[in-house]
Amino acid sequence: MWFRRTGLLLTSLALVACGAPRAPLAPREGPEAAYLRSRELVIPVKGVEPDALRDTFGAARSGGRVHQAVDIMAKKGTPVLAADDGYVLRVGRNDLGGKVIYLSDPKRRLVYYYAHLDTQRRGLREGNRVKRGDRIGTVGYTGNATKDAPHLHFQVFRMGPPERWWEGAVLDPLPNLLRAGGN
Ligand SMILES: [Zn+2]
Repeated sequence: MWFRRTGLLLTSLALVACGAPRAPLAPREGPEAAYLRSRELVIPVKGVEPDALRDTFGAARSGGRVHQAVDIMAKKGTPVLAADDGYVLRVGRNDLGGKVIYLSDPKRRLVYYYAHLDTQRRGLREGNRVKRGDRIGTVGYTGNATKDAPHLHFQVFRMGPPERWWEGAVLDPLPNLLRAGGN
């Protein structure tokens, strides 16, 4: 099939549109962007320094799609960390994202979406409190990622309305990922 032509193509496909469906973008500057900045996120993969991050937010993807998250490359099994204090909204699974976790900030204004996990922390349940830096799972390639390119798909969006809270406008997390997480 066409996508088997080269490993490179396969790797780039691994990053295509992984995670959540397309959502509107939140303004670059505004109350939510300012609030996100104030949260002082940690990089949600253990051992990853700010210099190692690549800007994959807004990157063009196949079929005219746009990547609305940051992909953080790491070996399978690397601990995934809560980027912020907050609550567990959902621990689940979907076709694109594979094993996923949704967390909120303490005020439930923002949603943090973690996808392609290899494992989700045992016992993690909706409503649980998490602290910045807590281990919530491990990096993998579940969903539409590929074995050649395990990574965390990390997405941030405004909390949507209660019945569709997972469809809020998306914010770019990258400018806010300035601190390594985990000890
Ligand atoms: Zn992604």
